[in-house]
Amino acid sequence: MKTELLIIGGGVSGSALLYTAARYTGLKHVTLIEKNEDLANVNSHGRNNSQTLHRGDIETNYTLEKALYVKQAVDMVVNYATAQEAKGAAPLVHKYPKMALGVGNVECDFIRKRYTEFAPHYQGLELFEVGEIASIEPYVVMMRDGRWRKDPVVAMGSRSENVACDFAALAHSFVESAQAEQSCEIDLKLGAHVESIEEVGDFFMVKTTQGTIEAENVITCAGGHSLLMAHKMGHGLDYSVLPMGGSFYFTPALLNGKVYTVQNPNLPFAAVHGDVDLLVDDKTRFGPTALALPMLERYQYKTILDFFKVFRLNKDVMAVAKDLLKVPDIRNYFLKNLLYEVPVLQRYLFMKEVKKIVPSISFKEIKYANRFGGIRPQLIDKKARKLVLGEAKIDPGNGIIFNMTPSPGATSCLQNAEKDMRTVCQRLGVAFDDARHREELAHDFNDPQLVDQPEEALREAV
Ligand SMILES: Cc1cc2nc3c(=O)[nH]c(=O)nc-3n(C[C@H](O)[C@H](O)[C@H](O)COP(=O)(O)OP(=O)(O)OC[C@H]3O[C@@H](n4cnc5c(N)ncnc54)[C@H](O)[C@@H]3O)c2cc1C
Repeated sequence: MKTELLIIGGGVSGSALLYTAARYTGLKHVTLIEKNEDLANVNSHGRNNSQTLHRGDIETNYTLEKALYVKQAVDMVVNYATAQEAKGAAPLVHKYPKMALGVGNVECDFIRKRYTEFAPHYQGLELFEVGEIASIEPYVVMMRDGRWRKDPVVAMGSRSENVACDFAALAHSFVESAQAEQSCEIDLKLGAHVESIEEVGDFFMVKTTQGTIEAENVITCAGGHSLLMAHKMGHGLDYSVLPMGGSFYFTPALLNGKVYTVQNPNLPFAAVHGDVDLLVDDKTRFGPTALALPMLERYQYKTILDFFKVFRLNKDVMAVAKDLLKVPDIRNYFLKNLLYEVPVLQRYLFMKEVKKIVPSISFKEIKYANRFGGIRPQLIDKKARKLVLGEAKIDPGNGIIFNMTPSPGATSCLQNAEKDMRTVCQRLGVAFDDARHREELAHDFNDPQLVDQPEEALREAV
C-alpha cells in the first residue's frame, strides 16, 4: 500500500508533523520512520538541548520581529500541552521564573531599552532591579557570605511562565495523540533506517532496513541527515553543513529558573545561560557551548563519514569559514569553545562564564556534563557564501521536503509542521482544517504585529 505521507525522523519535528497531519488534515494514511528503537533520542532528547521554549524576549540575539514569530510557535506548543493536561496527561510544559540579565552599565542600558521595546507585546514581562532579582534568583546578586555583588545589574523577564519543555516527552505525546485519531491510519516504524529515496514518476520509493515504502509525499526531519538525503537526490547542492556541538556543565542547584545573558552582537551563537534541569534533580545546567564538530549526531562516531559526505568542502565553504574567522570575537569564541572540551582546563575557563550569572561560583562546584549535549546542524549557503542561522527547508516542489532544524527548532515544531502540512495538502488536494487548527493551537491574533513573518525571520534566530 502506498502511504500518502512518509515522515523520516522521529524527533520532536517529525512527531509534531505526524500529529498535525493526523489531527488537522484529510490524510488517511501517514507513516513515521525512525532509525532508533525509541522516539526523540537525538537532539530532541532533554539531555541534549536546553529544554527552553524560546519566546524571544529574554533571548537578546532576537530582534522584536523574530521574537514575535517564535512567540507564536510557543503559544502553539503551550496550547497543545494545556489541552493534554486537561485530559489528564502529565504536564508537558513547565512554569519557572526567567530573565535576561544585564551586567555592567552598557548591558544594563541595553536591557532597559529592550524592556521598553518588548513590554507592550509580552504580557507579564517585568523589569527586575537588584532587589527583585534577589527575591527570584538570590545567587545572581548575593555572595555566599551575604554581601551583594559589586557590578551593576538589571534584568527583564517573568516571575512564572511556561518556559521549559522536555521535548522528548512532547514527541511521545504527539505520536500517541496522532495514533488516537480515528480518521487517519498511522504506521509507526521504529528501529528502521532509511537507506535511499528514489523518485519514480509522481511518487517515491524509500528503501529502509525494514523493506521498501512507497510514498506520495516525503518529509525528512532527520537533522543533518536531511541534507545528506537531499544531496543524494541532487537537491540542496548549494548547501553544506556546519555541525555545531553544544556541551553543558552542571553545578549544584543555584538557580530557580532560567537566567540568560546579553548576547555579543558579533557572535552567531546564543550566549551561555543557566537553566533549572527537568531531568536531573538538584542541579543547575549551564551552557550550551558551541564547538564545530565533524559529525552529524553527537557521540555517534559513525556519523563522521556522513558529515564528510555532506560537507563538500570547496572554495565557497572556505570563504564562509574565512569570513567568520576574520572577526576577532568569533575567532576567540571558537578557540575558547575548543578549550571548553579540554579536561580540567575546561572547568576553570567555563567558571568565568558562569561567574557572570552566579558570581560566587567556585571551581569545585562545576562539573562537565558527560554525554549531555547535541549538534546544531547549521547550514552554509555556498552561493550566498554565508552561514544560515535558525531552521532551513529545502522544497524542490515535487512532493519531498527536507528540514534542517537547529535551535529554536524544537520550540517551532508545530509551527514548522503547519507550514509543511499546508504544502502537502495543497499538493494532494486534501483539506487542512483551519478552523480546528486555529481553535486548538491558535496563537495570540490580537497583536497587530503578529502577522505571518517571512521565512527569513526565523533564519537568523539561533
Ligand atoms: C545544545 C543544544 C541546545 C538546544 N536548545 C534548544 C532549546 O532550548 N530550545 C529549542 O527550541 N531548541 C533547542 N535546540 C534545538 C533542538 O534540539 C532541535 O531544533 C530539535 O531537537 C530538532 O528536532 P528534530 O526532530 O528536527 O531533530 P532530532 O531530534 O535530531 O531528530 C532527528 C531524527 O531523525 C532520525 N534519523 C536520522 N537519519 C535517519 C534515517 N536515515 N532513517 C531514519 N531516521 C533517521 C534520528 O535518529 C532522529 O531521531 C538545541 C540544540 C542543541 C544541540
